[in-house]
Amino acid sequence: MTFQQLMSTKIPDPTELPAPVAEQLATLTLTHGKPLVIVDADEVLFYFMRGLERFLESRDLYFDWASYALHGNIRQRRDDAPVAAEILHPLLQRFFAEATEELEPVDGAAQALAELSRSSQVVVLSNVPMPARNARIRALARHGMAFPLIANTGPKGPAVVAMLKQTKGSAVFIDDIPHNHKSVAEMAPAVHRLHYIADTRLAALLGPAPDCHHRADTWPDMLTHIQTLLAQT
Ligand SMILES: [Mg+2]
Repeated sequence: MTFQQLMSTKIPDPTELPAPVAEQLATLTLTHGKPLVIVDADEVLFYFMRGLERFLESRDLYFDWASYALHGNIRQRRDDAPVAAEILHPLLQRFFAEATEELEPVDGAAQALAELSRSSQVVVLSNVPMPARNARIRALARHGMAFPLIANTGPKGPAVVAMLKQTKGSAVFIDDIPHNHKSVAEMAPAVHRLHYIADTRLAALLGPAPDCHHRADTWPDMLTHIQTLLAQT
């Protein structure tokens, strides 16, 4: 690659909505004024780490629970060496391809969302890779969570802003990853942000996201919090 080509390579703008996400959002019908609950999937609706551990085990790998990061914590059984950065991405793509449909649903999630959907509209906003989107849709349906799914890439703020343009009402955002909270806080500060990590081992590695309003420990806790909040608006 020449220097010129390198300089003209477009760096993704974290405030811009990627085209594949915009296409999915265009098919979404949201009701103006009705409260919106935007919910992540991995470690919020599905136990991601439990599935990942099974997948790693089958490949003589393991997760060492040293920190809240996949990079550096996936190691070889035979010599405890972490897998190289360039292996990690294809490994995770393979995991999503093989395991997305088999992940266990998080306790209480379906019941809480069913309760919330009586007065709110629920949208699942997940950074599941596009090739695994249909598997995730099937898994959501199978576990009583057949809500619209937007397969996002990159920061979540742009997709949240796009949805708010349609509803203009109150909105709640639930996610396990702090930088997703940061992106939403920066681009849509009025959205109420709930930090929740389903896996208790993973939750123990991380305090409340700096940009969240509330850190929840369980779905029943989250349901009560959201119901109280929506009753005030
Ligand atoms: Mg997640």
